[in-house]
Amino acid sequence: MSFLINALRDLLSVLLPKKCCGCGTFLEGDERDLCTHCLAHLPLTHYGAVTNNATELRLMGRIHFEAATSLMHFYKGNIAQGIVHAIKYYGEEDLGFRMGRLLGHDLAASHRFDDIDIVIPVPLHKKKERERGYNQSLLLCRGIADICKWPIATDVIIRHIYTESQTHKDRKGRIDNISNAFEVIKPDAIAGKHILLVDDVITTGSTIAECADRILEVEETRISIASLTIAGS
Ligand SMILES: [Zn+2]
Repeated sequence: MSFLINALRDLLSVLLPKKCCGCGTFLEGDERDLCTHCLAHLPLTHYGAVTNNATELRLMGRIHFEAATSLMHFYKGNIAQGIVHAIKYYGEEDLGFRMGRLLGHDLAASHRFDDIDIVIPVPLHKKKERERGYNQSLLLCRGIADICKWPIATDVIIRHIYTESQTHKDRKGRIDNISNAFEVIKPDAIAGKHILLVDDVITTGSTIAECADRILEVEETRISIASLTIAGS
């Protein structure tokens, strides 16, 4: 079914002019998914080099991490929400890669992430990844790796539980929903390493904290966190 939808989407994209995923205006010239105006007005956080930034404060006390950052603020209706939706739900894989590169530049410039050994995307459940065709966080990792030259590992941690959308759950519901969702299946691959865990959106932080918890159970691992966006801050 997803193959059919993708084929139809490809066909429509040829027939219909494409709209900017940030503001909805028709794209012109060599604009591919974001218009020039939106690209120049990304809601950047500038958290990269900042300790105790809002991403770190949200995770503090729940997991032990070295450094954490998010590239953009995510609000209902803002450019970052349009970008995340385009990457997640509308097949804009190249946009995911390019946003990952932007995040990579931010990480490299901050120097707080210089000793990362491996980049790991927060995994999707196999069924969800099959439906979507890809893991959006892996697209971000590929962009980050393109700039920072860190290796990516996708076969170290898996997600067991097919979670429903987290969007409409309250905080407690979200925590119940993801507890024991993740399992490290190749601990030897990460023992003693500093891992950069990557996700597209940090909302309550419970998903990424749960994933980080499983990684931190492996001997001598350290965690840093990078997300494309942080919601509501
Ligand atoms: Zn736009």
